[in-house]
Amino acid sequence: MYDEWMDDSSKEAFQGIELLREFVNTHDLETGADAVGSPAELRLWLADHALMGAQESIGPADLARGLELREALRALLRANAGQDLDHAAVDTLVRMGRNARLGISFDDGGRAELTPDPVGVEGALSRLLASVFQAQADGSWPRLKACALDTCQWAFWDASKNRSRAWCSMAVCGNRSKTRSYRNRHRTDGPPN
Ligand SMILES: [Zn+2]
Repeated sequence: MYDEWMDDSSKEAFQGIELLREFVNTHDLETGADAVGSPAELRLWLADHALMGAQESIGPADLARGLELREALRALLRANAGQDLDHAAVDTLVRMGRNARLGISFDDGGRAELTPDPVGVEGALSRLLASVFQAQADGSWPRLKACALDTCQWAFWDASKNRSRAWCSMAVCGNRSKTRSYRNRHRTDGPPN
């Protein structure tokens, strides 16, 4: 589903955007399940995605920052799906961006790359922020969205031609959302008397 827009050189960018999508979806709002609900679980997830070492230290404050970043990202992805931008989420990202540990490196061909500090949770979160930067720079960012339905907010990739998808699933969330706005419309119409 990604093939239509992706050439070989954007494979790295794709990995970054997929990383962001998976990170946001560690929290399933519908079931309440959180795959990174404890410091140890967050470390396991970050280590599984090659963002930090499985033996590096992590504590409750790291977990709090990780979850803060995740929910700020979700808010931005909801804005990509047409919802109002949550300015508190932007403030969070501003603060985190200030603390990010990033350098710029060059490969043999002279191609520049953001290189986060490889150490610890700070490095892992910096790498997620670098993926946001990369996605915005290469133009793929607006297609990464979070479902517009409040109770869902699942992150998805919008591969539609005109980039118009607002729901993770038209069949489920799209229909639920339409039924709801239909009801709301009729509610504000008032009783027929
Ligand atoms: Zn949804």
